[in-house]
Amino acid sequence: MSRDPRYDVLFEPVKIGPVTARNRFYQVPHCNGMGRVYPSSMAAMRRTKAEGGWAVVCTEEVEIHPSGDHSPWSGGRLWDDRDVPIHARMCDGIHEFDSLAGIELNHAGVMAAGKYSRIAPLGPSHTPIPTYDPIQARAMDLTDIADLRKWHRDAAVRARTAGYDLVYVYIGHQLSTMSHFLSPYRNRRTDAYGGSLENRARLFREILEDTKEAVGDTMAVAVRFSVDELLGDVGFTSEAEGRELIEMLAEVPDLWDVNISGWENDSATSRFKEAGFQDDYVSFVKGITTKPVVGVGRYTSPDAMVSMVKGGHLDFIGAARPSIADPFLPKKIEDGRIEDIRECIGCNICVSGDQTFVPIRCTQNPTMGEEWRRGWHPDRMNPKTSDDIVLIVGGGPSGLEATRALGQRGYAVTLAEAGPELGGRLVHERRLPGLSEWGRVVDHRTYMISQMSNVHTYLNSPLDAQQVMEFEADHVVIATGSRWDTQGIGRANPTGIEFASGSNIMTPDDVFKGTSPDGPVVIFDDDHYFMGGLLAEKLHAEGHEVSLVTPASTVSAWTVDTLEQHIIQSRLMEMGVKIVTSHNLACVTPGQAVLSCSYTGAERSVDCKTVLPVTMRLPVDDLYQTLLQTKVKSLTRIGDALAPSTIAAAVHSGHLFARELNEPDKGNVPFDRELSELSPHFPQGT
Ligand code: ADP
Ligand code: SF4
Repeated sequence: MSRDPRYDVLFEPVKIGPVTARNRFYQVPHCNGMGRVYPSSMAAMRRTKAEGGWAVVCTEEVEIHPSGDHSPWSGGRLWDDRDVPIHARMCDGIHEFDSLAGIELNHAGVMAAGKYSRIAPLGPSHTPIPTYDPIQARAMDLTDIADLRKWHRDAAVRARTAGYDLVYVYIGHQLSTMSHFLSPYRNRRTDAYGGSLENRARLFREILEDTKEAVGDTMAVAVRFSVDELLGDVGFTSEAEGRELIEMLAEVPDLWDVNISGWENDSATSRFKEAGFQDDYVSFVKGITTKPVVGVGRYTSPDAMVSMVKGGHLDFIGAARPSIADPFLPKKIEDGRIEDIRECIGCNICVSGDQTFVPIRCTQNPTMGEEWRRGWHPDRMNPKTSDDIVLIVGGGPSGLEATRALGQRGYAVTLAEAGPELGGRLVHERRLPGLSEWGRVVDHRTYMISQMSNVHTYLNSPLDAQQVMEFEADHVVIATGSRWDTQGIGRANPTGIEFASGSNIMTPDDVFKGTSPDGPVVIFDDDHYFMGGLLAEKLHAEGHEVSLVTPASTVSAWTVDTLEQHIIQSRLMEMGVKIVTSHNLACVTPGQAVLSCSYTGAERSVDCKTVLPVTMRLPVDDLYQTLLQTKVKSLTRIGDALAPSTIAAAVHSGHLFARELNEPDKGNVPFDRELSELSPHFPQGT
């Protein structure tokens, strides 16, 4: 197929200073948890983006000096020439597909704790670093400022040596020293680098000019700037200083990459912000500069992209998450395969990888982060190696992905789903407040398998062991999911909670079935992801009096890694949900939940009619256990039926099974590893 002419504008080349991008698809810098720690993985992932059609592919934040050591986050590093080969590898991969390689140089200033380098962080003024580490940044003197300018300049030259086409001067997200100088609430200086906007912007202007002078003849020099920090008058706003700064320097960089800050606002989840939400903040920029402008907003629809370009809001469609969920998004538009696009669901599981210092993962794209270590391609599958027939029982995320991926390999696949609708847990979860985009996990796979003549799907088909055996498949895959535990078993109560007879206990599954709780409800969240907090929001919105109790010190504690925790907790507080943190649920009697303090054990009671424990899920694996006793040739559990986890883990589990069916066993370590370099000698200490 060929591309729809309506989208031609997206494939126009665009000049960025001395270089030209082959189209308007621009992968903006994004963290990936691989960086310098897993460099082969990082380089292969970026190369895949170029192959998928992104005309500009950028790194994550790349440290320019040990004083900006951002450990334990595993971003990029370009401290000296020894770091060049990693970058050269990435650039070579990107250039194979005629895309431009961009590097986001950074000195993280007060954000960098220097935990590896043990060098005190630097900032415009003396200040504690924002995390609760007992570490302070020291105020930079004029020598430090001159040093920083030199480090940045040297790194830009090194970036050119590595093969980059575009270099960033980064003042976004309150994550760089230049942004800390710019910020009126971090910069208390009284010299030429503090006070007026012009003074606070001086360091940025100097570094921008240094970079232009050092490499601007052959490399594009881009600026990444957060025009609004959503802090009102104490921060930058797109109406005041954010706009003024762009007016001051409008024509100096070769490209403006603009967004909002902090990171949790820029990478807002779909639960809280719709695609395109940044447009209101950044659309003014094009009216100020003649230089190309790139902006983000979880754009996955080519029509929305065209309207951004034709409407004069953006020159490039910037993407981090949409390029993670589908590295082949541009190529699919180019090839007229719009329906095949695997749209980002805005869940920020990708962010959670970086936040926990492990390689990136993605709910929609199980191949993300696996390009190098498992050799997985986001758009191609290894062809089938036999004519085996596969039966998959259960049409949730794991069963759907296994079906899709096996179907793509060419296997004959039958998918049997007990219920009237595909989606498993997502049948209900996509209907929870704010989670409708999560349904894309189901819709994408349902569409893809509907196009495959070798895949047959049966709804309303609860299979028992007898029926499975009668099917005589060569391989039976059990993807029957999980159910919420009813006894309160969980982290805080490994043997369960005492529920006195007559107490009214419900689980999330009861809520999904449509049961409405009686009277005041206590939700006990020992799961710590989205479910407890989201049910509190839902039930409160439906008119119930809700208390949310958790042994953690914050609500939905794990969502700090999806950048949502603060928003969730403030929303529940504003709604009027009663929040009790650092308390376990000791027992329940009719009419009362007895809570115990996580620290002292002191007990208190909360009057309620219903208690809803959200503690853990148990695999629904009775069919699997029964089949184990039979002569079924090949039997495998995947997804939640094996071990309940995130949707991302279930999709990955289904994909893994599909990739490996009838392939040689890979042994103990089923993927390639990147081993650290061993020095040939011990130092001769003094
Ligand atoms: P996962 O996240 O691993 O995909 P889910 O819980 O989302 O798991 O989905 C499991 C699906 O399996 C549900 O849609 C459920 O209706 C279906 N299922 C469970 N038992 C059977 C069965 N015996 N036959 C067919 N489908 C089943
Ligand atoms: Fe989008 Fe979620 Fe994938 Fe991140 S993990 S790219 S938010 S689908």
